[in-house]
Amino acid sequence: MEITLVKKIMEDGEECKKCREVSERLRSGDELRFIDKVVYADVRDPESEGSRLARELDVEIAPFFIVEEGGEKTIYKSYMVFKKNVLNKVLEAADIEVENKRKRTGDTDAFGISMASSAANGKNSPDIDALNKKFEGKSPQELLEWGLNTYHPNIALAWSGAEDVAIVDMMLRINPGSRIFTLDTGRLNKETYDLIDAVRKKYGIKVEVLLPDSAEAEKMLRERGMNFFYEGAEARKLCCNVRKVEPLKKMLASLDGWITGLRRDQAVTRTALNKIEIDDAFGGILKLNPLAGWSHDDVWDYIRKNDVPYNKLHDMGYPSIGCAPCTRAVESGEDIRAGRWWWETPESKECGLHVKKK
Ligand code: SF4
Repeated sequence: MEITLVKKIMEDGEECKKCREVSERLRSGDELRFIDKVVYADVRDPESEGSRLARELDVEIAPFFIVEEGGEKTIYKSYMVFKKNVLNKVLEAADIEVENKRKRTGDTDAFGISMASSAANGKNSPDIDALNKKFEGKSPQELLEWGLNTYHPNIALAWSGAEDVAIVDMMLRINPGSRIFTLDTGRLNKETYDLIDAVRKKYGIKVEVLLPDSAEAEKMLRERGMNFFYEGAEARKLCCNVRKVEPLKKMLASLDGWITGLRRDQAVTRTALNKIEIDDAFGGILKLNPLAGWSHDDVWDYIRKNDVPYNKLHDMGYPSIGCAPCTRAVESGEDIRAGRWWWETPESKECGLHVKKK
């Protein structure tokens, strides 16, 4: 059996109200895991997959469910009828399967992924080792599809305004209602702000912009000065903490998972990066790193092939981009992160967004 959920995207880029309500019911009942595919009927794009399906199947309301079994398609326009006729039976079968698996192998969920209730947020968490094994050889899109189908709207991309814009493109193809946020430290380059606006315009989305707490920032500047971060790693980390880490912490407290553009080839601090992690530093939520196994060239192939807007600083010798005063262009042959906090040693070059609790 394959279940497809078709939702509608309105002119403003948001999901329709009924679609949001049904998603919330599926999520709160832990039923989203039984939906194999979510597609969108985007009113701005008659050729979107959902619009095409709605035309073919002559359905005029959203959301609706398509259940395919033995070559037959059944359409459900009501969540309640779908739940009664399909979900309840699937849930019952899954419960029996879970019970059988428990007897055979211990405490596992319906996918054979073991569930541990020891995450810092106290919520049931999937078995990260099993998920990493499952997704290691898979594409970034496959991991994103799983993450969005399982956790949306409680999962969002932390977009730095740099080359991880490739993930923005992938996510919006999978789910046009995907959530994307960015940290505006107040010290970004004009080119980075230009890119954020270019992305808003191209995809017709709203990027969630997080600002530092104004009282904290004012206190820091009053006591330490405007460019005090050049004084050393302690000063720099204080600035990153106020401008990046604290706003991020606030955002992540409202999510079940976040998505990053981290890659293993970016830095010595990232060589052991997993695609899926539990982020103990931020409340034990899920952290997905879909590009972990990609190289710099893989990312740029994607950006060029898919005509994704990118930060113009990349054309000026900036392979890695952060705040304006803390990023310089690199010379040919230099490490790609040599231009970030160049006055520090490579081992200390993290801003506090991506840390592991010891
Ligand atoms: S990168 Fe530089 S300016 Fe930006 S928050 Fe960190 S220390 Fe401050």
